[in-house]
Amino acid sequence: MSTLEIRDLHVSVETKEGPKPILRGVDLTINSGETHAIMGPNGSGKSTLASALAGHPKYEVTSGTVTLDGEDVLAMSVDERARAGLFLAMQYPVEVPGVSVANFLRTAKTAISGEAPALRHWGKEVKGAMENLRMDPAFAERSVNEGFSGGEKKRHEILQMELFKPHFAILDETDSGLDVDALRIVSEGVNRAKDTTDVGVLLITHYTRILRYITPDFVHVFVDGKIAEEGGPELAERLEDEGYDRYLASAQA
Ligand code: ADP
Ligand code: MG
Ligand code: MG
Repeated sequence: MSTLEIRDLHVSVETKEGPKPILRGVDLTINSGETHAIMGPNGSGKSTLASALAGHPKYEVTSGTVTLDGEDVLAMSVDERARAGLFLAMQYPVEVPGVSVANFLRTAKTAISGEAPALRHWGKEVKGAMENLRMDPAFAERSVNEGFSGGEKKRHEILQMELFKPHFAILDETDSGLDVDALRIVSEGVNRAKDTTDVGVLLITHYTRILRYITPDFVHVFVDGKIAEEGGPELAERLEDEGYDRYLASAQA
C-alpha cells in the first residue's frame, strides 16, 4: 500500500504584481485504493493544488510538505514525480505538434516504467483501452493535443491513466465540458482503473454530477485555499442540494 501525504501546504502563484498566496495550509492523506473528491467554488484554489502537486513552475510552495511513502515529492522533478507513480494530466505538454498520440504514449510509458513495453502486448493494450473509451483508432495517429476537442482531451487523459497505471491519479475537472455519454465513458475508465489496480484517486471538481458515476470514499470541501469540511459521500449529496453558499458566507465573515 502507498500513501500520498500533504501537510500544511502553502502555495503562492507568480503574478505580475509578485507572488500571491493561494493555498493556506492544506492537509490531506490519500491511501492506495481510496477515492477522494475535492469540491469547492471557483477560485478556491483547487487547480492550484493540482498544479503544485504537478510541479508547475509558476506555483511556489512556500511551506509545508508533500510525501509519497515518505519520499519528498516537492524535491522531485516533474519526470521523477511520474516515475514515483503520480499521475497528473497536466504534467505533459499541452500541445506536442508532430508527435503522434501512439508515439507519445509509448515514450511516456517507457520513461515512467524505465523500460520499453513489449511491442505486441503494448499494441493490444492501447487498442483495448481505446476501445473501452470508445475512441476512434485514427486518434492514435493524431498529434498530441493538436486540435483536440474538450472531450478528446479528457478521454486522452483517462487513456493515459489506464495505460500508465499510476499509484495516485490527480484528475482536475475531468468532468467539465463533457456531455452525459462522454461523462459516463470517462467515469467508467476511472472505475476500471480503480477495479484493476490499487490506484488512489484525487478527483477535483466543482460539480457533483461526476460523483454519481464515481463514488468517493471521502469528500473534502475546499474554500479559500484550504479544506473547510470533510465527510463521506453524503457530503457531496448535501452540496448538490445546498451549493457552496454557506461556506462562502462564513469565509467572508
Ligand atoms: P479553482 O481551480 O478552485 O477554480 P484556482 O486554483 O484556479 O481555483 O485559482 C485560485 C485563485 O488563484 C484565483 O483567485 C485565481 O485567480 C488565482 N490564480 C490561479 N492561478 C493564477 C495565475 N497563474 N495567475 C494569477 N492568479 C492565479
Ligand atoms: Mg480499488
Ligand atoms: Mg480549477
